Amino acid sequence: MSRVFSGIQPTGEPHIGNYFGAMRNYVRLGEQYGKQSLYCVVDLHAITNPAASDPRYLAARTFDMAVANFAVGLDPSQVTFFVQSHVPEHQELAWIFTCLTPVGELERMTQYKDKTAQLESVPAGLLMYPALMAADILLYKAGVVPVGEDQTQHIELTREIARKFNHHFGETFPEPQAVYNKEALRIPGVDGHGKMSKSKGETSTLGILEPLDSVWQKLRVAPTDPARVRRTDPGNPDVCLIFDYHKLFSDLPTIELVNVECRRAGIGCVDCKKKLMEGVTAHLTPIQERAEELRADPSYVRDALAQGAQEARAIAAPVMEEVREKVGFLK
Ligand code: SF4
Repeated sequence: MSRVFSGIQPTGEPHIGNYFGAMRNYVRLGEQYGKQSLYCVVDLHAITNPAASDPRYLAARTFDMAVANFAVGLDPSQVTFFVQSHVPEHQELAWIFTCLTPVGELERMTQYKDKTAQLESVPAGLLMYPALMAADILLYKAGVVPVGEDQTQHIELTREIARKFNHHFGETFPEPQAVYNKEALRIPGVDGHGKMSKSKGETSTLGILEPLDSVWQKLRVAPTDPARVRRTDPGNPDVCLIFDYHKLFSDLPTIELVNVECRRAGIGCVDCKKKLMEGVTAHLTPIQERAEELRADPSYVRDALAQGAQEARAIAAPVMEEVREKVGFLK
């Protein structure tokens, strides 16, 4: 059976875009692949961005990301869930890949260009980021990599690195396949300005662990169909982000009711949002309760991460042994 690998940035609290776009997919793949699905909180990647990796918060954010993933249903006893820096083989393999990868290829990565456009001094880690990502995936000889479409170029480079290593040192790594979850791309920010994204600040996001009254305050003022000025004006749910959210959180009869009644002004936007809030509450309450239980039992979370790192190393160590031998290091 092929393995699944996915890296999770320790960026603090995940939002509903992360939840519908990635986290639910992890749970599904976890049920399918069991221990062969590996999920890794990528703290080594996080420190390539000094602005997002304040040492005062990095450990807490890493911990919180584990809590959030466990709370949505990822069971650490069923999958392999660990922290990247707890498995040093990631860095060792990344160095070998760095030595195989031309600087020109790393420099033409779109994300590298975007991230460095405003920087006066560029940390070398930002350039090497895709080599570390290739190491994350290939260390486990993973065949399936669930990612957002913004990672396409990095996965292509990972495949290229695998080919290059195999060519130089003999067949070792499979070429992984990216698996995209299209739902992620369609989730608009609650401020109405494009995709929901943490980089746009809290006005754009609805956190899955955010207090429900705060979620309601954001929904209450969220933009709707701009052509619907008065309560008596018919609306168009197809251009309204509230209807997009209904499709994620509400049951089918509610979605159908909004779809019909909005178009003939049979429902007002406030009532429509209240109906949405019922679905949001039903969906997020059990997740938030589970997160509270986990936070109250930090040793459970830490033990699960230590166990996950052990399981990951059990796969990684023999792969690194094979790599060291093929590269020609003295035993
Ligand atoms: Fe949007 Fe609902 Fe208002 Fe229609 S009734 S415009 S779907 S908030």
